[in-house]
Amino acid sequence: MKYIAEFRGGALARTLARSIAAAVRPERRYSFMEFCGGHTHAISRYGLADLLPANVRMVHGPGCPVCVLPIGRIDLAIALALERGAMLCSYGDTLRVPASGGLSLLKAKARGADVRMVYSTLDALQLAREHPEREVVFFAIGFETTTPPTALAILQAQAEGLANFSVLCCHVLTPAAISHILESPEVRQWGTVPIDGFIGPAHVSTVIGSRPYEFFAEEYRKPVVIAGFEPLDVMQAIRMLVRQVNEGRCEVENEFARAVTREGNVKAQDRVAQVFELRREFEWRGLSVVPYSALRIRGDYAAFDAERRFGLQYRSVPDNKACECGAILRGVKRPQDCRLFGTVCTPDNPVGSCMVSSEGACAAHYGYGRYKDMATSDG
Ligand code: SF4
Repeated sequence: MKYIAEFRGGALARTLARSIAAAVRPERRYSFMEFCGGHTHAISRYGLADLLPANVRMVHGPGCPVCVLPIGRIDLAIALALERGAMLCSYGDTLRVPASGGLSLLKAKARGADVRMVYSTLDALQLAREHPEREVVFFAIGFETTTPPTALAILQAQAEGLANFSVLCCHVLTPAAISHILESPEVRQWGTVPIDGFIGPAHVSTVIGSRPYEFFAEEYRKPVVIAGFEPLDVMQAIRMLVRQVNEGRCEVENEFARAVTREGNVKAQDRVAQVFELRREFEWRGLSVVPYSALRIRGDYAAFDAERRFGLQYRSVPDNKACECGAILRGVKRPQDCRLFGTVCTPDNPVGSCMVSSEGACAAHYGYGRYKDMATSDG
C-alpha cells in the first residue's frame, strides 16, 4: 500500500538502527518521549526497542485519547445514558474505559442504557436525524486530530436545526500536556522524568502544524521531531533526535514532511476556533488538573453543549489505587512495573485506561509480548 509498505521495510530499519548505533555516544544515555500512543504501538508492534542501542531509552507519553480520559468524565456520559435517557454515541474504545462502580459505557449498555458505537460524527448526526424524539449526545474525546470533525458536526447540527443533538466535549490539547510534563510540580511526586527530546504526533500536527512545538524547543531546550506512525518513521525520528542532542541543537524538525507543514490546516483551525474556546482547567487521568489544556463549546453554540443542556456537574474520582496509569502516562513507570499487569489487568478485563486502547502503553506491551523479555532485561 502506497505510503505504508515502503515505511515498513526491515532492511532499511536495520540500516537506520546501524546509523543510530554509530551516532550515539557511549558515555551518555538518551531518553526520548514518544508523546503519542500511535508511536508506542509502533514501537511495541515492530520491536523497535530491540533495534536500539542499550543507552537509548524510549519513554511513553500521555498521548492516548482514551487513556487520559478521567473517570469523572466517563461517569457523566454514563449518567446521561442511564439516568437521563439520552442516546449516547462515541468511538469504540471509549465505551470500554473503566469508570466508577465497576461500570463502563459498555457495561451501562448491558444494564439497559442506549449506548451506540459510531465511526464518525456523521454517524451521530444521522442518529439525531433518525430519532428526533430522542436526545442524542456525542461523547467527544481526543486530541487536535478529532476536534475539527466535532466542530463541523456542531455547525452542521446548527445549520439543520437539529435540536436534539448535543456534544459532551472532552477534547484535549497536545502542547499543554507536554508543558505540564516538563514543568508540573506533581511530576516530582513520581520522580524526575529524564527527557532529552520528544517525538511529536503526526496526525495532530497535520492540523496544528509544527509551529506550536517551537515553544518547547526554545523555552525548555528540548528537541522535537514530528514523526509518522510507521516503524521507519519512528527510527528516522530517533536518529534525528540523537543528532540534535549530540550537536546541542534544540529545534523542531519535521520527519513527516509528507503531510505536516509549519502552519498546519488553517481551515480546520478556523472551524475549531469558531466553535470552541479554552477551558480554564481540565482534569486528565494521570496528569491531574492541567490549566488551559482542553476545549469547551463557546456560548454561541450553548444549545449543542451537553454540559449546559443537562446541567452537568463534574466530580473528580480517584483511580484504582493499584493501577499505575498515572505514573505510566507521565513516563516515570512502565507497564511491567504495575503488579496488576497481565494478571488481574488484561485487555479483556482492563482495570485502568492504559489497557483499553491498542494505543495504550499497557495494551501495546501486553499485545506484542514485549514485557516477557523486558521483565528480565530492564535494569
Ligand atoms: S496494567 Fe492495568 S492496572 Fe496496571 S497500570 Fe496498566 S492499566 Fe493500570
